[in-house]
Amino acid sequence: MSHSQPPSSAPKHALPSYLRPDALGPWGIYLEQVDRVTPYLGSLARWVETLKRPKRSLIVDVPIELDNGTIAHFEGYRVQHNTSRGPGKGGVRFHQDVTLSEVMALSAWMSVKNAAVNVPYGGAKGGVRVDPRLLSGAELERLTRRYTSEINIIIGPNKDIPAPDVNTNEQVMAWMMDTYSQNSGSTATGVVTGKPISLGGSLGRREATGRGVFVVGTEAARNLGVEIKGARVVVQGFGNVGSVAARLFHDAGAHVIAVQDHKGVVYAPGGLDIPALITHVAQNGSVAGFSAESLPADQFWQLDCEFLIPAALEGQITKDNAPHIRARMVIEGANGPTTPEADDILRERNILVAPDVIANAGGVTVSYFEWVQDFSSFFWTEEEINQRLVRIMQEAFRAIWQVAQDNHVTLRTAAFIVACTRILQAREMRGLYP
Ligand code: GLU
Repeated sequence: MSHSQPPSSAPKHALPSYLRPDALGPWGIYLEQVDRVTPYLGSLARWVETLKRPKRSLIVDVPIELDNGTIAHFEGYRVQHNTSRGPGKGGVRFHQDVTLSEVMALSAWMSVKNAAVNVPYGGAKGGVRVDPRLLSGAELERLTRRYTSEINIIIGPNKDIPAPDVNTNEQVMAWMMDTYSQNSGSTATGVVTGKPISLGGSLGRREATGRGVFVVGTEAARNLGVEIKGARVVVQGFGNVGSVAARLFHDAGAHVIAVQDHKGVVYAPGGLDIPALITHVAQNGSVAGFSAESLPADQFWQLDCEFLIPAALEGQITKDNAPHIRARMVIEGANGPTTPEADDILRERNILVAPDVIANAGGVTVSYFEWVQDFSSFFWTEEEINQRLVRIMQEAFRAIWQVAQDNHVTLRTAAFIVACTRILQAREMRGLYP
């Protein structure tokens, strides 16, 4: 995470099309996805309204003193969408565009994701509307600690377990763990996952989401008869998810031909040198300035490739660019990158979409391993972790593939069928109280 001021010439970006007033917005997109699965839920459809309302939403004011002595207020959220299958689980995002609707949708996608890979959690998500690049390290720590303190009443190792998401990392998790522990009087490592290894973090957690994207990409490719070796890969976002996925595809002999981040697109038709690009981004904060061709954003989406991996934010593949996408498959590293209209267009065009709720579930799967290791104070080897991760992801993907075949639906609807059935079965068995 960089704390330097962005250049004053940074262009003010126009509102993305999926956020314009006439668009559904993230929560509206999620509701549409639930409507699409409802006909496949049989008698459990009686409970479907459960999925359309978050169980608990907390909005908090997060005041901090800035280094210049002034007081700044930020709005923070923690939403527990569903806890029928276990405690809430999901990341915390620091971003200037965070809204309640977005956090609600992200928390709901966590419920679906956790059920899709069958880890014993409900779904939750948190966020603070702040541009962390404008804060110093000390300001970021104060923000994190005050936010944690404000949501302290609803989180806990058995209640709701935050983790990293966009613009949060191991250091932020360490501050959250410390703040919660100070407030509760004992060190509680299991209150967050994605911690540093020295504080009960898990080996392999940092790479887990990107590794899961690669595993799902490999499975999807096998089903379509596409070879990884020599395949062309296009990646949007080069953070923790995009960079690891790019490196694993690169190591397996694929050619990562283009990468887009917030500063632009780097392109090399014969394949980018991904290890060199990772070093460049670590030193410079973005792909800009890397020795490769650059491309305008609209051409990025039109590149001929086997794998298109959105690994940034929501609402990137819309009805505007979906008709021009020339990928064989889309593997969703980000949460919510494709709108329902774009889903329909890609389906008509025979472009396979491996949905977020399975494709990026590697992160929360290793979060689950971390939480289990913390509870038992017994830590596994990286090899054990990666083997278990691969097995869970492969089994979940294969089951969802079969459901898609049996019902003639997309992989997204199939993943929702599997997940919503699990959630609503738990809901029904628990019964309504009182
Ligand atoms: N933020 C990640 C996600 O969207 C990880 C969540 C977690 O590990 O709890 O899946």
